[in-house]
Amino acid sequence: MKNIYVTGHKNPDTDTICSAIAYANYLNKKGKKAIACRTGKINPETKFVLDYFKVKTPLLLSSVKDKKIVLVDHNEKTQTPNDIEKAEIVEVIDHHKVSFESKLPIFFHTEPLGATATIIAKKYCQNKISFSKKIAGLLLSAILSDTVVFRSPTTTSEDIKVAKALAKIAKIKNIKEFGFKVKKAKSSLKGLKAKDIIFADFKDFKVGKFRFGIGQVELCGLEEINEKKQEIIIELKKSAKSKKYDLLLLVATDIMKMGSLFLFWEKENYIEKAFSKKQKDNMVYLKGVMSRKKQVVPPLTKLFKS
Ligand code: MG
Ligand code: MG
Ligand code: MG
Repeated sequence: MKNIYVTGHKNPDTDTICSAIAYANYLNKKGKKAIACRTGKINPETKFVLDYFKVKTPLLLSSVKDKKIVLVDHNEKTQTPNDIEKAEIVEVIDHHKVSFESKLPIFFHTEPLGATATIIAKKYCQNKISFSKKIAGLLLSAILSDTVVFRSPTTTSEDIKVAKALAKIAKIKNIKEFGFKVKKAKSSLKGLKAKDIIFADFKDFKVGKFRFGIGQVELCGLEEINEKKQEIIIELKKSAKSKKYDLLLLVATDIMKMGSLFLFWEKENYIEKAFSKKQKDNMVYLKGVMSRKKQVVPPLTKLFKS
């Protein structure tokens, strides 16, 4: 039996890593041979979660050539492992917009939920596979991370219901308190260079001839980002030019006040057009904006399509 490698997106986040671990475990319980993987360095938030539940970091995949692959938490080609063309994708489980093509029929499961982890938890239930304390803890952490402790507009009642059930198994008494502990693990910018801040949680997009990239940092307050904003804008400009982006954007989300400061470099005035708000010095604050996938990518995609 050929091994199945389960992997999330580049610049892995907690949902990507925990979903890969939980889904590989699920496949193993169904009698398949599956291995959880990652395609990049784990972030401090994910490290906190893995340490908390005493789970090993998944295997780092350098190449997926000739491998059977399950993609979790992404389906966009710009976010898959580099040599994905040489792999056999057998299944996709995701909660992002669909931007996928396949030559052969495959299993493709998407739901508009707050985290891929919620979809995977539901699969366990539907197939009557029990959760270990560790797996429940990882899935719970992933839901809390992606929904920003249920504050993101991507949160659904299903995410909350599933998270509550998982918390019982994982023996987490205060879900919100635990959630903020998880989020705070990566909310410091101390010692980070502008480049690290922009590209730590970064996604690439292509719409027609337009190429844009969006990084996101989630912070408890914007003081630290305000101190570094000039340095970041200089770096955005430099990277956009060398990597040929039409727009390079850093979304600095204040998870306490529930809004985001956009710092960007753009070829033309896309941001003002897409978000109908006046920018100043390559910056604009957007109240209520917390989700890249639901509130940032769609207006830009719409603009670039028009
Ligand atoms: Mg993700
Ligand atoms: Mg996700
Ligand atoms: Mg995210």
